[in-house]
Order: sequence, then structure tokens, then C-alpha cells
Amino acid sequence: MRKITIIGAGQAGLQLGIGLLSAGFDVTLVSNRTAEQIASGRVMSSQSMYDMAVGYERELGLAWWDESCPPISGVHLRAGGSDGVTMIDWRSPMRAPGQSVDQRIKMPAWMAEFERRGGHLVIEDAGLTELELYAAASDLVIVSTGKGEVGKLFERDAGRSVFDGPQRTISLTYVHGMKARKDYSALNISINPGIGEYVNFPALTHTGPCDIINLECIPGGPMDRWDEADTPQAHLKLAVELIREFFPWEAERCVDLRLTDELGTLAGRVTPTVRKVVGRLPSGAAVMGMADVLVLNDPITGQGSNNASKCAALYMEAILKHGDQPFDEGWMNATFETYWDYAQWVTRFTNTHLLPPPEQVLRVFGACGQNPRLAARVANAFDDPKSLAPWYYDPVEADRFIESFAVPA
Ligand SMILES: Cc1cc2nc3c(=O)[nH]c(=O)nc-3n(C[C@H](O)[C@H](O)[C@H](O)COP(=O)(O)OP(=O)(O)OC[C@H]3O[C@@H](n4cnc5c(N)ncnc54)[C@H](O)[C@@H]3O)c2cc1C
Repeated sequence: MRKITIIGAGQAGLQLGIGLLSAGFDVTLVSNRTAEQIASGRVMSSQSMYDMAVGYERELGLAWWDESCPPISGVHLRAGGSDGVTMIDWRSPMRAPGQSVDQRIKMPAWMAEFERRGGHLVIEDAGLTELELYAAASDLVIVSTGKGEVGKLFERDAGRSVFDGPQRTISLTYVHGMKARKDYSALNISINPGIGEYVNFPALTHTGPCDIINLECIPGGPMDRWDEADTPQAHLKLAVELIREFFPWEAERCVDLRLTDELGTLAGRVTPTVRKVVGRLPSGAAVMGMADVLVLNDPITGQGSNNASKCAALYMEAILKHGDQPFDEGWMNATFETYWDYAQWVTRFTNTHLLPPPEQVLRVFGACGQNPRLAARVANAFDDPKSLAPWYYDPVEADRFIESFAVPA
């Protein structure tokens, strides 16, 4: 039986680990936190996931929250100023709903399932010494955490990394009491150009259905005030204040909010980075990175958990296809390039929305307001950002694409 060790019990590591167990592999999964510590810890993400990514969970019999998690049924995108006037306003239902299950619920449940299906769960903070031992004892070691000395094994790919610092200060607030939208639940995106973004959607947490407030604040700008929020209540108060000031069209939904729990807040920064797939241990042994370790995006477009699911599905297929052959560097590079063929478009989509929007994207958004079929096409791109390529990034192609959706007179 082939032996695979995975470091990190997140979306990518657990989904791949459970999948490999079902395919008959001997799998060890290493987590630096117990299920109880994850369940009782701080929120880690807003983890909105769309149909394709949740579909891979369904294939493995792991999508256990389809009934209990409130659906994200569509996309609503607005851009405007503090005066409340919106220049862009379009909305569309999505082909299939998305969902956001708090990782504090999902990961502990999947850790138990991993063990139930016969996996070896090891609780330790794996470093280089542990990785050497796993590499000697396994056919393949996969690293699915970019943190600490283990994450440093993977060299930044300067040719594929656009930024060398964070582009936003990010804040999460899990709340109860947000007024429901009048039409349908949505990935509800508001942009205040040059200042930041507010993204909101429903989710499932320990205390039941809730809403997540994601504020993306341009560093040094008027929304970048998270150092002031020294208590959970101060964090909530600041979130509401920023919504009122910079996204006033959303303020009335936020008049009666309370935190889901004292650990339902987070503030931080991410440097979007692409890394090389092979990590070299001091002994010379090669280990393979996956998901966020290799393709880390700002959460502005909510794609990281989706990427993690898609990466896990793709790695699983590549591992199965490889049969009894050695998992050498050539195979690791080829597998990552297949993933990058998709993930590069997620990175392009995300990075495009971290910068002032190109003219053609503004024209696309304008046309979405007039044309529901085009709006649906863009809304569904959150499920598959590759579907926007290449026309979204090219002024001439974008105009042609808009034209192709024109309704005959
Ligand atoms: C504020 C914020 C909002 C986000 N919102 C969304 C969203 O709405 N939609 C979306 O798709 N994505 C979102 N993301 C991104 C998403 O959360 C990540 O991309 C996703 O969780 C990555 O999964 P992963 O399995 O690659 O890694 P991780 O989730 O980072 O999992 C790695 C695991 O490894 C463990 N670990 C770390 N070091 C070690 C070690 N040395 N030994 C053993 N274990 C270790 C960690 O404890 C962790 O459990 C958001 C991210 C942030 C920061």
C-alpha cells in the first residue's frame, strides 16, 4: 500500500487525505492543532465556496452542510462613494448556490471522519526534523501549510508573483442580526474606489446561520483602522462605523448586529504570492506543496478555499493516475503546472480587483446592469474564474464579448 503523509489539516489537506484513504492509500495527516482546539478557536476565514468546489466535497461524501448552511444564491455588485451614490449596480442569481461553513465546524468534523476511514492523525507542529522522518518513511510528503519553517521551503516564484507586499488590511466579523436582503441571499460586494471593499454573505457557524462582514481596507487609507479595535465589541463597532461611512447603501441592514461569539473576529494582511512546487529538505529529499502554500491570493474575490478544494481534487487524480511510479520532481512540477493552468486565472482575477479596475472591466460591469445574461455570466465566474479568460483582460475582446450578448433590436 502506498504511503502518503500530508502536513496541515485545512480544506486542502483533509479533503485530499480523506479522498486518498477512500482510494486505498495509507495516509498520515499531521495537524498542529487538535480538533477541539480548532473548534474552540478563532475564526480563520470567511470560506465562501461555490458549486464546483463543493461538488468535489460531494463526490467524497463530505458535503454535510447542504441542508443546514444558508445558501449564497447570487451576486450583487455595487460601486459608489460615501455620498451613497452608486455608479455601478448589477445583480444576478448564480447557476447553483454557494455556501460558507465555518472552518471551526468543518475541519474538526472532517478530522474525525479521516480517522473513521482509517487515517493516522498526528498532532504535532511539524518542522524540518519531522519532515525528514516523514520523507524517509513515505512515498510522498505533501505540505499544505505555508506557515513557519515548513512554508519557507517553497521558493517564491518571482515571475508569477505580481506583488511584494499586502494590498489590503482585511477584517472579518461574524454576526447575527443582519437584516435579510429583499431579493435573494448574495455574495454582496460593495466597492468604494480608492478606499476599500465590503463583501458580505450568509454562513453557518457554531451558533447557527449568521452573516460574515469582510472589510478589505487599502493600507494607510481611511478604513485601515484595525489597530484601534482592541476588544471584540470595539471590532464590531468599527465594522459598522466603516460600513455606515463608506458603504451607506448597506447601513440599514446593519443597525442591530451582535457578534456570533467573542472569537468571531479577525484582522490581518496577506501578501499575494506564487511559490514553486518542490520544497527541498536539508537531506536533499523533495516534498510537494499544495493550495495556499503555492498560490496565495488576497481574499477579496473569496477564492482560496475554492482553490484548495480544486487543488486537492486535481492532486488526487494525478496521484491515482501515476500508479506505482515514483513521485519525483518531474511529476510534482507537471502536476503543479496542470493546477496552475487553472489557478493562474484565479490569481489574475483576484489581482485585477486589488488594483484600480481597467476601463474594459468597468464597461463589462456597466453592461451587466443592462443585460441579465451577461450579468449571470460574470456572477458564475466566482465559481470558475477561468471562464472570464481571456476576454475580461483585453479591451478589444471585452467589447466583442459584451457585443455578443447584445439583444437584437
Ligand atoms: C480573512 C480571510 C477571508 C477568507 N475568505 C475566503 C472566502 O470567502 N472564500 C474562499 O474560498 N477563501 C477565503 N479565504 C482563503 C481560505 O481561507 C484559504 O485559502 C484556505 O483556508 C486555504 O486552505 P489550505 O488547506 O490550503 O490551508 P489552511 O487553511 O491554512 O490549513 C493549513 C492547516 O495546517 C495547520 N498547520 C500549520 N502549520 C503546521 C505545522 N507546522 N504542522 C502541522 N500543521 C500545521 C494549520 O493549523 C491549518 O489548520 C480567506 C482567507 C482569509 C485570511
